[in-house]
Amino acid sequence: MEMEEKFDAIIVGAGASGLGAAYSLAKSGFNVVVLERGQRIGAKNVYGGRIYSHVFEKEIPGFKEDAPVERWVTGERLTFLDDSSAATLELSSDFSSENSFITTLSKFNEWLGKKVEETGGLVISGIKVDDLIIEGSTVKGIVAGEERLFADVVIDAEGVNPILAKKAGLRGDWNPHEVAVGVKEVIKLPESVIEDRFNLNHGEGAANLFLGYASRYGFGGGFLYTAKDTISIGVVVRVDSAIANRISVYDIVEDFRLHPYISKLIKDGSPIEYSAHLVPEAGIHGVPKLYGNGILLTGDAAGFVLNRGFTVRGVDFAFLSGVIAAETIRKAHEEGDFSASTLSHYEQRLKESVVFRELENFRKVPNLLSNLRFFETYPKLLCEILKDAYTVGEDSKKIYPLLKNKMRDRVSMITLIRDIISVVRNL
Ligand SMILES: Cc1cc2nc3c(=O)[nH]c(=O)nc-3n(C[C@H](O)[C@H](O)[C@H](O)COP(=O)(O)OP(=O)(O)OC[C@H]3O[C@@H](n4cnc5c(N)ncnc54)[C@H](O)[C@@H]3O)c2cc1C
Repeated sequence: MEMEEKFDAIIVGAGASGLGAAYSLAKSGFNVVVLERGQRIGAKNVYGGRIYSHVFEKEIPGFKEDAPVERWVTGERLTFLDDSSAATLELSSDFSSENSFITTLSKFNEWLGKKVEETGGLVISGIKVDDLIIEGSTVKGIVAGEERLFADVVIDAEGVNPILAKKAGLRGDWNPHEVAVGVKEVIKLPESVIEDRFNLNHGEGAANLFLGYASRYGFGGGFLYTAKDTISIGVVVRVDSAIANRISVYDIVEDFRLHPYISKLIKDGSPIEYSAHLVPEAGIHGVPKLYGNGILLTGDAAGFVLNRGFTVRGVDFAFLSGVIAAETIRKAHEEGDFSASTLSHYEQRLKESVVFRELENFRKVPNLLSNLRFFETYPKLLCEILKDAYTVGEDSKKIYPLLKNKMRDRVSMITLIRDIISVVRNL
């Protein structure tokens, strides 16, 4: 790169949001560069395992034929765990709509990076952006080591810990209850073994989320996704919960993998990868100021993740926010004005998009998921009641007395009914 080169847009971070913005801008002929601190695209990106496809199909028609899709999800499971048992709700379907797929995020982002380059964008890895160039109150470019690069606009797509956005005064630090730490292990197993164990046909995949013991009964949960010849397992625990329980998340994931339900599913597999990452958990409440003079904020940097306990949307929201940022830049370019007033179009367009619609629709979810009964009382109760109900001695037990007996001193019937109503209403 030449010193003091000027771009239409500089994008910091080659995750799904930065690459979404770059792809959309490069496609319309903009001179755009993505700077990524990892040694290669994908090196720093961590997630559970599943991406919802709708947004990608719309923006990159035919992406399914080209993208590194490993399996289409046909099996959904939500499992409640106590220390030794598991109660699972399972949906098995052909999901012919190809609604979501399992892939490795690093491979997927690498593929997106190729798409950016095919459309004329530049992606440079191994460069950490250290600072913004700010003149007056306007962002004019970035500083990376000795290099200074200028652009009409900078997109901060740094992910969950956006140092530049803080420097630009767009966001502050997360509070411990607004962010979770996720730890993930990838386990290699032959394709046929995965398909047998999860009752899958070739190309089909299973997604399994867990509540209860998975997070050692704290705020959080576990996940398991079957890729082609690997299984990803992991736990996500809210930072306040991890601090309060004084237990390391690494120990929690180790206990999770040793749980009898999980250990059978990953038996004889070889761990090939281990990673940890933060994930925004505050929903709409964690969305900061999204634009300033010459700067836009996308993806996790803007808090665009929705965790409903049984679905997690982050990658598709990240990508779409990048696409909408690109659309805003095209409009600003037409008007020849990159001030906050023109860039405010970004927020307006996001509000009309599925990103804000979903975050708004589920605005009560972070609060709902701050109820410890969902993570401790109910998973334990469900497992205990089902164990007793299925244990046939001389006399079988009726469900209602069993329920009353197990609930004693733990939760009242009124609280249980209230919790059920709040789930049905808000989730
Ligand atoms: C454990 C876990 C499980 C998850 N499960 C799912 C799931 O199953 N499905 C789903 O859709 N979402 C899931 N998510 C959320 C999802 O991963 C994110 O929402 C999404 O990847 C965010 O994309 P992004 O581009 O905003 O950020 P990131 O993917 O974090 O990318 C940011 C990039 O910016 C780079 N960067 C940062 N700072 C700099 C700098 N100063 N200079 C240069 N480069 C920089 C980083 O190296 C990184 O590559 C999960 C997240 C976690 C942690």
